[in-house]
Amino acid sequence: MEMKKTDSEASPVVFGDRVFSIKVMRDYLSEKAYKSLSTTICSASTLNPDIADEVAEAMMRWAVERGATHFTHWFQPLHGATAEKHDSFLSPDREGGAVLQFSGKELVQGEPDASSFPSGGLRATFEARGYTAWDPTSPAFLKGDENGKTLCIPTVFCGYHGEALDKKTPLLRSMEALSRQVCRLGTLFGIKADGKRAYATLGPEQEYFLVDAKYYEERLDLLQTGRTLFGRAPAKHQQMEDHYFGAIRSRVMAFMQELDRDLWSYGVPAKTRHNEVCPAQFEIAPIFEELNLAVDHNMIVMQVLRETAERHGLVCLLHEKPFAGVNGSGKHNNWSVCGPDGKNWLTPGSSPHENAKFLTMIVALMRAVDRHADLLRAVVATAGNDHRLGANEAPPAILSIFLGDQLSDIIDQIEQGGAKRSKDGGTIRVGVTSLPTLPRDATDRNRTSPFAFTGNKFEFRAVGSNQNCAGANVALNTIVAEALDEICTQIEKDLAKGMDLNGSLQKLLPAIVKEHKRIIFNGDNYTAAWKKEAARRGLPNLTQTPDALRALVTDKAIKLFTSYKVLTERELHSRYEVYHEAYEKTIRIEASCAVNMVRTQILPAVLSYQSQVAQTVTRVSAASGRSQANEPRRLLKNLVAETNRMIKAVDKLETLIGGGSNRSVLDTMLLVRKSVDALEGVMPADQWPLATYAEMMFKL
Ligand code: ADP
Ligand code: MG
Repeated sequence: MEMKKTDSEASPVVFGDRVFSIKVMRDYLSEKAYKSLSTTICSASTLNPDIADEVAEAMMRWAVERGATHFTHWFQPLHGATAEKHDSFLSPDREGGAVLQFSGKELVQGEPDASSFPSGGLRATFEARGYTAWDPTSPAFLKGDENGKTLCIPTVFCGYHGEALDKKTPLLRSMEALSRQVCRLGTLFGIKADGKRAYATLGPEQEYFLVDAKYYEERLDLLQTGRTLFGRAPAKHQQMEDHYFGAIRSRVMAFMQELDRDLWSYGVPAKTRHNEVCPAQFEIAPIFEELNLAVDHNMIVMQVLRETAERHGLVCLLHEKPFAGVNGSGKHNNWSVCGPDGKNWLTPGSSPHENAKFLTMIVALMRAVDRHADLLRAVVATAGNDHRLGANEAPPAILSIFLGDQLSDIIDQIEQGGAKRSKDGGTIRVGVTSLPTLPRDATDRNRTSPFAFTGNKFEFRAVGSNQNCAGANVALNTIVAEALDEICTQIEKDLAKGMDLNGSLQKLLPAIVKEHKRIIFNGDNYTAAWKKEAARRGLPNLTQTPDALRALVTDKAIKLFTSYKVLTERELHSRYEVYHEAYEKTIRIEASCAVNMVRTQILPAVLSYQSQVAQTVTRVSAASGRSQANEPRRLLKNLVAETNRMIKAVDKLETLIGGGSNRSVLDTMLLVRKSVDALEGVMPADQWPLATYAEMMFKL
């Protein structure tokens, strides 16, 4: 696909020209190798080792023709970012020259020194090796510019005994688990898999902030922690609701245009771009893709966001809460299931039979989310995301499902249909009764729900903007696989007893609805009333990461993940350790940074201003009499008092960094912040050492 830009100077945009796609492969591989590899990719099966050398050689040829000098196995360790170690294609030829070489072995497996990646105790130092293994289902791509390019090969990353040390390994395992159960349900509904797999689809909406690099560099907190630890709310921020979908400023537009062009060249189907709620906040959303590819593409999006911003003198903030008091950033995780028939199974169908399948899926999701609400909370638990989920903003830490009025009504009717005495005319016989058409993009779309049905997909909105969304989808895939497994087992038993499919569903679905309907909530999730109601329903509300993370290592979670061979008990524990440690470290780094900023930037500025005011008091008193200096004296008194409070709080914070609880560190940081922000409000603007919120949000 070629798109010509209207600007005559601009070069045409070529979609996917950095990607070694299936289409490209055809030109670079023999017929036999091409067929074998494309089958491997489509069915997510294992690569035929006989063709590895040919594929590697073809990839290298293609890459070198486009300026590549190096290759790298590109993987996603548990710290959440991507990792790459480059090797050149060069090999000495023993005659003083060199040849370009890239073998099948190098393509298929790598062995980076893994000792410096977080493993949560999975890898003792004596077995520090980590292995990367090619994931042919996500195409290789070229990174870099005219100065040289690197062939990036998406890989999984694991330890010597195959222990998962990354985000992709469990994602692929969970996709297999989901596919197995979806195909099994398909069989019951008369859908033949024919060797095809089912898969989840993902469209992650990525929110981000942009600030001028000049301000970013002035702020140690942004540089070191990704968020502002101090900063007084400006008079105007998002109150007027005039930024959302507003006209995009020209500087930002230039950035977005380049961003889209770059992403398209990576084969990322970037689709939507717009201003978000807060000034300086924006969103980019791609067209949804098969889950594994969509996750890789989202990692590329985050990278390209940062790089493009840099070229425009901007910095892209992906932190969940760069600024206090205004909207934070999330990554709405739009998830659905594509069956082996190639159709979206979360779309209501046109026949009662299709609708029965749709309703079975919805009910399975109800069971999955209700039973594992704690787990879905755990997989979005990070220090950064706590500022969103724990606060009174979208979405809350309480998991619930929004189905919309119409689908909720249908679910209610199903529940009643299973009861002995059902309401006349008001009940649905699953698989027999036709459903009313459900409106897609219903007007009652609820923006406050953490888990919303939006016509043909579920939107899990609690994922943090800075997170690798693999974790959330590993959980989603697996809990849905479990629910479907149970449902299929029950139906298969009923069929064996001679019951028909509709009869079985008519019995089964109402029972599941009854058991799990407490998870449905269509109201406003931000209210205090919902918090109370959720507590009454027994839904967990874990606002802080350390509490939330425990759900990863409960017996329930261990049973779930081991049953479906997604994560072993050891792997789960290692993840728990890694995430817990990351949380602790983040809090301590933030606290140290705060102490440092107060002592070396804020306090000196405040003391210098104090002395100016003190001088003013003395001079005004001397010149005009003591009583004439009352107001400057009052200013000085307040200034000194606030400064002393700040010093006391910062002293306390410093002692807590070593051994204080996370909670006490966080609380004391807020205490320090209160004084700092108050001082910012009385200090002369030209003497305040930090870029202000107003500057960062509005001077773009
Ligand atoms: P919004 O929720 O902002 O109104 P849309 O609902 O149109 O926007 O889409 C949001 C995201 O959901 C997009 O990335 C879109 O591609 C994705 N999406 C749409 N259909 C599906 C699907 N079946 N599976 C996964 N993601 C989907
Ligand atoms: Mg959305």
